[in-house]
Amino acid sequence: MDAVLKRRGTIAGAALAAAGIGAILFAFASGSGAASQSSLTVNLPPAATDRIYSAPQARGRPIVVIDAGHGGRDPGARSVSGETSEKDLTLALARELRDDLVKRGRVRVALTRDGDRYLTLDERAAVARRLDASLFVSLHMDSAPNPLARGATIYSLSDVASDAEAARLAASENRGAEADAGGGSVQAMLSDLAMQEQMSASADLAARMVGKSAGRFELRPNPHRFASFHVLRRAEAPAVLFEGGYISNADDEVLLRSPEERAKIALALAQAIETDVAARSRR
Ligand SMILES: [Zn+2]
Repeated sequence: MDAVLKRRGTIAGAALAAAGIGAILFAFASGSGAASQSSLTVNLPPAATDRIYSAPQARGRPIVVIDAGHGGRDPGARSVSGETSEKDLTLALARELRDDLVKRGRVRVALTRDGDRYLTLDERAAVARRLDASLFVSLHMDSAPNPLARGATIYSLSDVASDAEAARLAASENRGAEADAGGGSVQAMLSDLAMQEQMSASADLAARMVGKSAGRFELRPNPHRFASFHVLRRAEAPAVLFEGGYISNADDEVLLRSPEERAKIALALAQAIETDVAARSRR
């Protein structure tokens, strides 16, 4: 069922979502050899509105898309206390970052989700493409078998991972993306040159985030890392994946659940985003 849902094309998905009601979905699943047809009834989420949040003085300013990782039937990592999950904390931080950016008035903001909704990675990246976003920031919370692992990490897109852990994280965050792409996706990929530019701009943004975050909340050693994240690649804009800390660590969980502590993170990210947008528009 997952595979069928994920194979749903974006055009069909948009049309069905626009209907706003449950719909009968037909899909051709190409198995080994003969194609088989299947159908199922799904309750579709409300249509994506691509709502843009903006202060009056920010009219016409660049758009930043904030992506709260996971959601709906995908909770992401579970916290060590068992009381919260990644999808709830990413949404809280996304809303706080949106509010900070709107209040400061230098950019406009869109969210990939503003509720407990499941979205594929391609649907998230498609928001950035539709809105011609200047930046894409995907928010996540880390988890590791080592209960002592702590601190935030900022990942930018690269073909080659900076370390084995970054490669494992990307593989885990990319789960399901192969199924998305396997459904006859006809969207063109960026040229190699455009992709190189996207990677280099993404690395600049990540470095600015490290700079603004240092000393204000806990970062891991070598906090700027690289890996091949599907959602970043498809955003077609400078894009980073921010891991706010380890909810598998008791101390980090307490911090990440505290609105006061999250406010420090949101402010640092907001300042880095504004600096980045300003530097880019000067070129
Ligand atoms: Zn995640």
